[in-house]
Amino acid sequence: MSETTIALVTGANKGIGYEIAAGLGALGWRVGVGARDDRRREDAVAKLRAAGADAFGVPLDVTGDASVAAAAALLEERAGRLDVLVNNAGIAGAWPDEPTAVSLAVLRAVVETNVIGVVRVINAMLPLLRRSAHPRIVNQSSHVGSLTLQTTPGVDLGGVSGAYSPSKTFLNAVTIQYAKELGDTIKINSACPGYVATDLNGFTGTSTPAEGARPAIRLATLPDDGPTGGLFDAAGPVPW
Ligand code: NDP
Repeated sequence: MSETTIALVTGANKGIGYEIAAGLGALGWRVGVGARDDRRREDAVAKLRAAGADAFGVPLDVTGDASVAAAAALLEERAGRLDVLVNNAGIAGAWPDEPTAVSLAVLRAVVETNVIGVVRVINAMLPLLRRSAHPRIVNQSSHVGSLTLQTTPGVDLGGVSGAYSPSKTFLNAVTIQYAKELGDTIKINSACPGYVATDLNGFTGTSTPAEGARPAIRLATLPDDGPTGGLFDAAGPVPW
């Protein structure tokens, strides 16, 4: 790409999202740090800029229509287009969350953030992405969203889940449908970061946020002949 690549990472103030922003910033990209809390966003932008990244803050709560519309307006004003959107923001809800016990309020909140929030952000950003010569969308999913892995005997994905895992399966289904509609115009893929030590799991994960950022960064930097409509982890394609 000849001009500076413009990226937006949602939930970029901490965890894997922060490391995705740092990784894209290290490539010389201009990175919008999407985050809902002013202080956490400003702290992250300051840290990224201190490390040399061209980072700027984008107030963004993925569950709010007005917030997402304002984020699109800010990007329009600051950059006039968007090349790469990384939908990383997500919540675990309550864990463990067996389907027989899950609270419907938790289920709604998890789907609202992890699925509907992604659709809300993508559709708001599409006019900006359509102005890019090489648009990419990355949806941060999980191995626990894979129906194949969930039903393969001997594969241990850490227990039964009535909200979080189904939300990632739903997100994968959404990724597939966008890929079918968008075809070659915008590449869209789902990423599995692995089991990463972050707030989401009480820092029980076995890999670092920087390691967890790698699959999303790879999908954000796909060449024009790269795949679309797939699910990938650090080792390559993952079955749906
Ligand atoms: P963290 O809890 O560390 O980070 C989650 C990020 O999402 C935070 O920046 C949080 O912001 C943000 N967020 C949550 N809700 C919203 C919202 N409504 N609007 C905007 N931002 C929001 O978790 P991880 O870094 O682990 O998770 C990042 C992504 O990776 C998630 O989608 C998660 O499901 C996925 N993932 C993580 C795995 C892991 O092992 N950690 C494994 C597989 C997938 P705030 O600080 O304001 O809460």
